[in-house]
Amino acid sequence: MFASPRAVKAVFRHRTQSRTFASSTRRNADFTHAVVGGGAIGLAIARRLQQVEGAQVVLIEKHGIVGSETSSRNSEVIHAGLYYGHDTLKTKLCIEGRHMMYEYCDRRVVPHMNCGKWIVAQTDDQLHALKSVHDFAKDIDVPIRWIGPKEAHAREPDVRCQAGALESPSTGIVDSHTYMQALHADFEEAGGDTALASTVTRIESPPSGSGDWKIWTAPPGSTGPQPESPSPQTHEPSTASEEDVVVTAETVINSAGLYAYGINNMILPPERHRTPYYAKGTYYSYPKSRPKPNTLIYPAPVPGHGGLGTHLTLDMAGRIRFGPDVEWVSHPHDLAPSGDSARFAAALEDIQSYLPGIDVEAVAPDYAGIRPKLAPKESGGAASGGKVTSSDFYIRREEGFPGFVNLLGMESPGLTSSLAIGEMVYRMLYR
Ligand SMILES: Cc1cc2nc3c(=O)[nH]c(=O)nc-3n(C[C@H](O)[C@H](O)[C@H](O)COP(=O)(O)OP(=O)(O)OC[C@H]3O[C@@H](n4cnc5c(N)ncnc54)[C@H](O)[C@@H]3O)c2cc1C
Repeated sequence: MFASPRAVKAVFRHRTQSRTFASSTRRNADFTHAVVGGGAIGLAIARRLQQVEGAQVVLIEKHGIVGSETSSRNSEVIHAGLYYGHDTLKTKLCIEGRHMMYEYCDRRVVPHMNCGKWIVAQTDDQLHALKSVHDFAKDIDVPIRWIGPKEAHAREPDVRCQAGALESPSTGIVDSHTYMQALHADFEEAGGDTALASTVTRIESPPSGSGDWKIWTAPPGSTGPQPESPSPQTHEPSTASEEDVVVTAETVINSAGLYAYGINNMILPPERHRTPYYAKGTYYSYPKSRPKPNTLIYPAPVPGHGGLGTHLTLDMAGRIRFGPDVEWVSHPHDLAPSGDSARFAAALEDIQSYLPGIDVEAVAPDYAGIRPKLAPKESGGAASGGKVTSSDFYIRREEGFPGFVNLLGMESPGLTSSLAIGEMVYRMLYR
């Protein structure tokens, strides 16, 4: 791990000057793969690629630690795959990733719990939405079952589900920080390099489609590519500062989360630039010990909501949190929990609909995370085969840019899917 700019520069220099690849066909680049972004997804990709014989991967992360952006601002739920529709990457990768995540967490002793979740309905419309989720789950062979009123009352007496309740037994929770530490340790033990405190500011694709990629990184405090900017490159080679480091790699994987659009826009031509959209979700804490359900509780999905409703999740320490809600924001750094009283009142109303005994005085805004969205508003819904979001994950090799794998819109269930995404990127590059 290399925290200071000088140390980062040293590792890059060392690689540049002394390394040769054991089994790579081209031996000019400093690294076989450069993964931009050390969140859960970038870590899982870097770990998988470093397992390839002869690979030498560098993971480039702008902060001094890995996993400090969206990957540490989520619900830590291991999703079952109930909401993302037929023939989507989200459904496929979520289901594969869930299996891989449980196996990995067992093997690497990452705290996790297969606690299950309930989706609850209070009205006939909501029950209709639950039926769609149920039918979709059956279709894709994900475990699901109805819970009758007697069983519901006996198991969770504090939870209201007037019109019905579904149980998803394969849903769980994970300690996302320990999970990311485990991925990072695997990566480094396999010989991968991490360049922390290194902001990617410019990327040059190989001349005429073949050769190596050139990647400029600058020390902390420098401006990374801003997705909103029409020309996100901030450093021309001639103006690069003393502290900047340039490395080469045979491939580049854009896994920069909320800032991945800026990386996209610095590589692809203007007609393929993307405008990012951001949906903030604020969480609410609840320190009281009652009521405290033993399972996760989700309201019925609402078509076009952009999230899964203000649900109740538990963390591995047994703490309750509510959220996240959905608030469309303009900037990826707008991370303060929402202070909007109307929004807070709406969240409390949502929560009381399924947990009427809650002490509303004890609920308080806690933290927020931002979902990177590919579209400003979403259509489709539970009525159409359990699908509540219209945008799928965007994971592609970009035409005309060999060696570039682009990951955009990596919102939920990205944490659950991360190991399967690592596998998918490996297959894209090696098969
Ligand atoms: C509110 C919310 C709740 C969620 N709940 C769940 C859930 O319960 N279950 C689930 O499966 N998923 C959930 N998700 C989704 C999940 O959190 C994300 O899909 C996942 O964390 C994304 O990981 P990532 O590695 O793509 O992005 P990030 O974690 O954002 O990592 C990207 C990294 O790139 C770095 N970076 C950016 N620009 C540069 C640059 N120029 N140079 C170098 N480094 C750079 C950043 O510093 C960051 O560390 C939720 C998301 C949100 C917002």
